[in-house]
Amino acid sequence: MNRDNMFADLHLHTCFSDGTYTPEELAARGSSLGVAAMSLTDHDTVEGCPRMAAACAAAGIEFLPGTELTAEFNGNEVHVLAYGIDLTNPRFLLEVARFQAVRQDRIREMVARLNKLNVPLEVDSVFALANCRSPGRPHVARALVQAGLCASLEEAFDRFLKAHRPAWVPKCKMSALEAIRLIQQAGGLAVAAHPGLNRTDLIIGQLVDAGLDGIECFHSKHTGPTVQHYLAIADHYGLLVTGGSDCHGLSKGKPLIGSVKLPYVYFEKLKERLTAPVHSGRSQNHLAQTF
Ligand code: AMP
Ligand code: ZN
Ligand code: FE
Ligand code: FE
Repeated sequence: MNRDNMFADLHLHTCFSDGTYTPEELAARGSSLGVAAMSLTDHDTVEGCPRMAAACAAAGIEFLPGTELTAEFNGNEVHVLAYGIDLTNPRFLLEVARFQAVRQDRIREMVARLNKLNVPLEVDSVFALANCRSPGRPHVARALVQAGLCASLEEAFDRFLKAHRPAWVPKCKMSALEAIRLIQQAGGLAVAAHPGLNRTDLIIGQLVDAGLDGIECFHSKHTGPTVQHYLAIADHYGLLVTGGSDCHGLSKGKPLIGSVKLPYVYFEKLKERLTAPVHSGRSQNHLAQTF
């Protein structure tokens, strides 16, 4: 295929966090849409990456391992995408496991709050439905609907789970600076996710000073002018440009995969950085054999 028509989707979720597709279903969707390269960026986990790698290989799609870390900086939530990390890096796996435990404890606390409100949701029903190490509020919402305790996911969020509603529990997050360090010591690239949805403009300079590698300019919730705004910021700071649909399968209505087409040239730049003998003056490159 002409490289100018090739595209990537580097922001995708599966049932290993709060998406609904399995890695195999996601790769099949990508294949039917003609996606040339994909990354899996489940929240705070890389559990689905080996299956996604195999499914992509079978479909002839290039695959980049990834995750989306929930972090914070100066009190604002910031999502940091990690690309090309070594999936066996002990420190990375240990830290991710710690934040998965935080997520699981938070589910217990949210269910305890619901029970105090006389909503008889059983915590095991949430864990059974989530069936992954990185559960979140959408799983509580789905369990509430499944148990007939709420009519819809919207009702579950509106009545109980949105910020400052009675069953909401704030999430303990790692600092964005820590997230950048953690990703880079595992040989990966750290990218600020969907900056148009967070107050990222105010802190981008500080993240760049901390070693941020890239910025997600293309995203399903970015308008045309927003994309242009972040392309200019990427240019200004010399950041890599990434993009993806942030597809969660069927959990948010229509699947978003295919709605964002990251031009393949940006994916090539990412690969180049990852396969350089030493990228950004730090870790050994473990991906030289991958591409
Ligand atoms: P958590 O990481 O557990 O705080 O959950 C965040 C997830 O919940 C994200 O994927 C959001 O898209 C989803 N979410 C947050 N607010 C709502 C809402 N009002 N309705 C539906 N989903 C929501
Ligand atoms: Zn999500
Ligand atoms: Fe996000
Ligand atoms: Fe996401």
